[in-house]
Amino acid sequence: MSNQSAALSQVHIMPQTGGGVRALRAQRVRVTCLQGKQVGDLFAFVPGSRDEYLSPGYTLRSLGRLYPEVGKPLYSAHRRPLLMIEEDTVGVHDLLMPACDNNLYEQMGAKNHPSCRDNLNATLQDFEVDIEGNPDPVNLFQNTPVVNLDGRWEIRESVAKPGDYIQFKALEDLLVIVAACSMDLSDLNGGACTDLMLEVFE
Ligand SMILES: [Zn+2]
Repeated sequence: MSNQSAALSQVHIMPQTGGGVRALRAQRVRVTCLQGKQVGDLFAFVPGSRDEYLSPGYTLRSLGRLYPEVGKPLYSAHRRPLLMIEEDTVGVHDLLMPACDNNLYEQMGAKNHPSCRDNLNATLQDFEVDIEGNPDPVNLFQNTPVVNLDGRWEIRESVAKPGDYIQFKALEDLLVIVAACSMDLSDLNGGACTDLMLEVFE
């Protein structure tokens, strides 16, 4: 790790919940996969704007590739870079999938199941932030690769090991929210939902 100093803020995100931190421009935001194999749905919001937030669609459009990489930023729906990826001990993430939600779990036979969509909305309420639209996540540590040139993709177990992390430099003042993905009905999170750490450093 390049940054050994104490965190300015630290949120321990328990399994199947969400949490957020405020980060100022040039501060570092780190998401750590504490037990391994746990996907984190990453969202970021520009304070004072109701519709400028992190966009995986605009990110892959700007990157010219389907997957994020170190040294390249994640973009907003206004086509501005918000978060620069500085360090990444995993290298396998997803820009294609929407957040899990009530409809998905009901279709899978699980009513009243926690979801990343609900956890995002609850965390936005905690911060009293009101937005327009339905943001899609950057799915940290998620292993859902395109496996065939015809476009087929697969759900695979996350390859993140205990203590693996990804660290960003904030390129704007941001509210960063992470949901520890609630999916326990597929291999996505290794079959069991665990916790994540969300931290801000100078
Ligand atoms: Zn989820």
